[in-house]
Amino acid sequence: MARYTGAVCRLCRREAQKLFLKGDRCFSGKCAAERRAYPPGAHGQGRAKVSEYGTQLREKQKAKRYYGVLESQFRSYFEMASRKRGKTGENLLSILETRLDNTVYRLGLAMSRAEARQLVLHNHFTVNGKKANIPSLLVKPGMVIALKDSSRRLEKFKSAAEANAARKAPKWLEYDAGNCLAKVLAEPDREDIDLPVEEQLIVELYSK
Ligand code: SF4
Repeated sequence: MARYTGAVCRLCRREAQKLFLKGDRCFSGKCAAERRAYPPGAHGQGRAKVSEYGTQLREKQKAKRYYGVLESQFRSYFEMASRKRGKTGENLLSILETRLDNTVYRLGLAMSRAEARQLVLHNHFTVNGKKANIPSLLVKPGMVIALKDSSRRLEKFKSAAEANAARKAPKWLEYDAGNCLAKVLAEPDREDIDLPVEEQLIVELYSK
């Protein structure tokens, strides 16, 4: 399972947008996207006008980086989205949003998607009562995601719950915080997804 292992703040700076990839730090004065609000690299402060292709590419990169997905997997999500009924761009975001690692993050059980991915890999969750340690698993309406009893006592989950107490679960998930258990009610709509991306530009890019 390949993943990006470089400096993540650099990704936010490249997209000129906070992608919230680092948990607590993203909400502090140490955020690199705020302190150095220009693209990384020697020519970061002197880049020329962006072409149409460049704009489309940036939107795609932004979505990939937000969800921590690499190109081949992102492309396969796009193909899956184009086979579904409805708008391909919205379908794509809906698919990305239902990844198990993102779902765990949305429930406030992790401080970032990267941490959620790691927690899933470390076997802290079940789906429909069965072991679920694949971050890319796509959850479907009716599925039940739960934090294992043996994991509930762990300090990291207690502190994540405290830090995210004010954060509400999205409306496509029904969350029982007392039992650390969530049921998927529906597929997420575009309005449920706060990703600041113009998904139509991704569709245009892949349709060339
Ligand atoms: Fe992005 Fe968070 Fe780093 Fe800020 S602190 S640049 S939001 S990953």
